[in-house]
Parts: sequence; structure tokens; C-alpha cells
Amino acid sequence: MTADESAALGRIRRERRWLILWAVSAAPALWFAWRIAHRELAIAAVALIWISGAALAIARLMFIRCPRCGRLFHSADGAPGVAKIFAPRCGQCGLRVKPERVIYPSLE
Ligand SMILES: [Zn+2]
Repeated sequence: MTADESAALGRIRRERRWLILWAVSAAPALWFAWRIAHRELAIAAVALIWISGAALAIARLMFIRCPRCGRLFHSADGAPGVAKIFAPRCGQCGLRVKPERVIYPSLE
């Protein structure tokens, strides 16, 4: 694995972590908006911002390219989709997101 592939896979992992963090932050953000403003409009504004951020994060993951084959990483058929956003490997060439473990033959 080259340094460019490793950096690109790190970016994919970072984008996934960002989406998970964003999803987890929805409930506290809505609760905080309710505690501060006590109005439905404040909750609607926070929800709109949160949904926009989630849609942006999902879109970035949908269209991210594989560093090895250059095709869409999270797609098996070449079309962008959300079904395989957390797949452990590239849908086209099988490149794993997590770095492979180094196994020393002398320890087996
Ligand atoms: Zn690939």
C-alpha cells in the first residue's frame, strides 16, 4: 500500500467518524435548542441545520473515490448509493478501509 492510498483511506475513515459524530450529536443539539429558546422555530432551525450537515456528510461519503481503482468506493455497481457507506472494503476492487495487520511468520 502506497502513502497516497493510506492517506486516502484515512480520509474515508475520518469522513465516517464525522458522520457518526454528527448523528450522535442530533439529540443533544435539539435538546439544547429547546432549553435555550423554548420555541418550535428554534428546534426547526437546528433540525434543518443538522439535516443539511448529515446530507452533506452522506453525499461526501457516497462520492468518495477508491485510491486504488479510482471508482466509487462505496458502490458495487458503479452507481452512488447509501446502502454500503459503512462497508469494510471497496465495492469494486476489495481494498480494505482499515490497515491490514502485519503477521510475522516467526510468531505463527
Ligand atoms: Zn477500489
